[in-house]
Amino acid sequence: MPAKDKEQRRITKQKWVSRNLEHIAASVRAYNKRRRGDLIQQLGGCCKKCGYCKNMAALDFHHIDPATKKKQVRDWMRLDFDVSTVVLLCRNCHAEVEHPELEIQS
Ligand SMILES: [Zn+2]
Repeated sequence: MPAKDKEQRRITKQKWVSRNLEHIAASVRAYNKRRRGDLIQQLGGCCKKCGYCKNMAALDFHHIDPATKKKQVRDWMRLDFDVSTVVLLCRNCHAEVEHPELEIQS
């Protein structure tokens, strides 16, 4: 395949991407929402500590062993994300587990 054709395809693709950025971003958001929902269902759909299961946005993947966490902020987006390395916790329980030193003494 001539290099000129390859370069022309790259330019054509780049133009298509720039014309369709909103559509691509919406597709990625929809995919991520489905994937996150699927992972949450695989983990039982509720906080393992308190049983909260009202809103998906309030549920986090807590890494049982912090060493298994990839350096990315949202490693659940990775295709090789291993669901067996995490438990589902609500935001409150996750904060309590991650920061026991901040507990308010009464
Ligand atoms: Zn909880």
